[in-house]
Amino acid sequence: MRRVRLADGRDVAQLGQGTWMIGEGRGDARAEEAALALGIDLGMSLIDTAEMYGDGRSEELIGRVIKGRRDAVFLVSKVYPHNASARGVPAACARSLKRLGVERIDLYLLHWRGGTPLAETVAAFEKLRAEGRIGAWGVSNFDAADMAELAGVPGGENCATNQVLYHPASRGIEFALIPEAARAGSTIMAYSPFGHSGAPLRSAALAAVARRHGATPAQVALAWAMRHPHVIVIPKAGSVAHVRENAAAAGLVLTAEDLAAIDAAHPPPARKHPLEML
Ligand code: NAP
Repeated sequence: MRRVRLADGRDVAQLGQGTWMIGEGRGDARAEEAALALGIDLGMSLIDTAEMYGDGRSEELIGRVIKGRRDAVFLVSKVYPHNASARGVPAACARSLKRLGVERIDLYLLHWRGGTPLAETVAAFEKLRAEGRIGAWGVSNFDAADMAELAGVPGGENCATNQVLYHPASRGIEFALIPEAARAGSTIMAYSPFGHSGAPLRSAALAAVARRHGATPAQVALAWAMRHPHVIVIPKAGSVAHVRENAAAAGLVLTAEDLAAIDAAHPPPARKHPLEML
């Protein structure tokens, strides 16, 4: 598995696993648990969740899967903006830790910006970090202006990642957020690499590139996002078949010709666009 180095020196898998809508009773829970466990075996050891997902049921399912193998995974969870206050953050974190059945969340994110001043949320994150209840913290759905404001807050320089929407049909973050994260020695975590609904996977350009490599459009979408060495990618899969397919994408390297074909169908941004989010 390719690795990405966080600013604090820790290495994480570049290809991880999302868990939105896992553990909610939409799919067979045992199949979801088997898929997640196989993904860990195959090196997709970074697991992304949130207190929001299934009102905590996603964290509980993860807790069952990682029981007895805590050290094999890098856990990412997120706090709701309405819990992002000095009192709310430690309380929400304690609930997530309990559901996950662990002593520490490796990376704890503010899910999106809300009404709490950033300085208050960052101070609460830094306190959790000093206490060892989280390993690092970051943000999600922050646009370039939010990141600039965050950089001006005490401790703001410790933000480890910004988790944002990124797939071939939504490339706005290439204009500023991706290059700025590289300059700052930080990372981007690309969510919904299949566009959540899978619609971007029906692109004729992705299909043509996939045929050249004997791969699938999903694998091309993952390899495409992973071409940036500081971008971590977190597809969600509810079946072992999809997990196997996704894990194999880590071995796929796209050529300049492939990238040009994708650019022709899905052009990179020529100017700043407001951040898209789900
Ligand atoms: P996604 O990963 O873009 O797409 C998931 C869909 O793709 C599911 O229907 C899944 O089906 C299907 N799929 C998985 N592997 C496939 C393959 N190899 N071929 C074809 N289809 C495949 O969607 P997402 O769940 O929105 O995003 C991924 C993760 O990002 C989330 O789970 C969550 O952890 C995170 N996220 C964060 C935010 C945020 O605001 N921070 C927002 C959205 C998402 P099966 O389930 O049947 O396998």
